[in-house]
Amino acid sequence: MNEPLYPLLSLVRLRMGTDGSGVTTLVAGAGCPLCCRWCINARLLAEAPAEMVTAEALLKRVKIDDLYFRATGGGICFGGGESLLHTDFIRCFREIAPAEWRITVETSLAVPADNVLGAVDAVDVFIVDCKDMDPGIYHRYTGGDSSLMTENLRRLLQKAGPDRILVRVPLIPQYNTAEDQARSAELLRKMGVKRLDLFSYVVPD
Ligand code: SF4
Repeated sequence: MNEPLYPLLSLVRLRMGTDGSGVTTLVAGAGCPLCCRWCINARLLAEAPAEMVTAEALLKRVKIDDLYFRATGGGICFGGGESLLHTDFIRCFREIAPAEWRITVETSLAVPADNVLGAVDAVDVFIVDCKDMDPGIYHRYTGGDSSLMTENLRRLLQKAGPDRILVRVPLIPQYNTAEDQARSAELLRKMGVKRLDLFSYVVPD
């Protein structure tokens, strides 16, 4: 099998409080199957040419913060873009990265089930941006089909367990209401989600 490459858009070092506990480096990658109206990375995803890197090359660049990661329980967060388009790469990176580093992915789960289940052994924490649990709102906002996300979330809850999954439930200006957000949270709790983060997207005027 050819060595998997990662389409690197940017590295953001020394993040705190956004990707879970500890100091993290965000590794942003290209590509996303959704088309969210308020995507903060839409321009980056559309315009920036990605640099293709091997797992070894990425490790060389991020290990400058090894001491911070170990001291704070932090590590690497794969985002972008859709991190789980790159499950094979993340698995390779996990094999060569220090075991103490926490690996997090930010994902919409709008990917084939194999990409999700294949990441379970390599990823410590899954941060899932569910958008909205209502299929109509989800489709209007993302252009995608919410059943793929909900089925993948069910599978992930079964295989990884709820403690490793944080589901983010946004209030999306012009697309849903606080009642919709509360309804999504309730449905997610019924599915077995224990860790929820309700928040609001901030959109340009
Ligand atoms: S899932 Fe995330 S990266 Fe993809 S279009 Fe939506 S906001 Fe942007």
